[in-house]
Amino acid sequence: MNITGVLGGTFDPIHFGHLRMAQELADALNLSEVRFIPAAQPPHRSQPVTSAMHRAAMVSLAIAGNPQFRLDERELQRSGPSYTRDSLQSLSDELGRDASICLFLGSDAFVKFNTWHRWNEILSLCHIALVERPATKETLPQELQNILRDHYTENVTDFSSVAAGFITMRKITALDISATRIRNSLQQNVSPRYLMPDNVIDYIRLHHLYR
Ligand code: ATP
Repeated sequence: MNITGVLGGTFDPIHFGHLRMAQELADALNLSEVRFIPAAQPPHRSQPVTSAMHRAAMVSLAIAGNPQFRLDERELQRSGPSYTRDSLQSLSDELGRDASICLFLGSDAFVKFNTWHRWNEILSLCHIALVERPATKETLPQELQNILRDHYTENVTDFSSVAAGFITMRKITALDISATRIRNSLQQNVSPRYLMPDNVIDYIRLHHLYR
């Protein structure tokens, strides 16, 4: 069964933390592709600083040249809040029965997973690969500890044996990079070079973003 990785986010802007996470999970879990899905209106956090059009364009530049990576604009084409559950459902309908989906989540995002829209349907639509984020301080609610216990696997072949329902936790190269810090640097005219692709930095400068 082919497995498609999904990395949703605001990508405001995209950086090497996102790209390296996607690459390492794609390799570790034998994924056929990774979809980068920018959120139009993220329901769980403050709204992006930059327009969806610019954020998608930056993702597109950042992943150019990697045939395994793909920009997926389905959340930008829908109106209303960008619910992950709805995106997974529409992607699953598109990929068909012989494909499986693996949702990538940083540990910072997973601690709030049980507050997401129709969150308890998500594991029937995909597997989840968790990666540790250096800055996660919150502890996991009991409800999510139970979910982790019941769905956890370290066996990569589980992900291709059934379409959905497993969670794994993967160690990846820890890159303590965040879009918030990049935005702050740009505002203070400090270069974000070597934290993100050069072509994305060029795009930010060309369009006078984050000033
Ligand atoms: P912000 O600082 O604006 O909150 P961010 O850098 O955390 O942004 P998002 O677009 O919110 O980026 O993140 C999308 C996904 O990528 C989330 O699951 C998040 O945990 C993960 N992620 C972000 N930065 C990293 C990183 N440096 N390493 C691994 N995963 C990351």
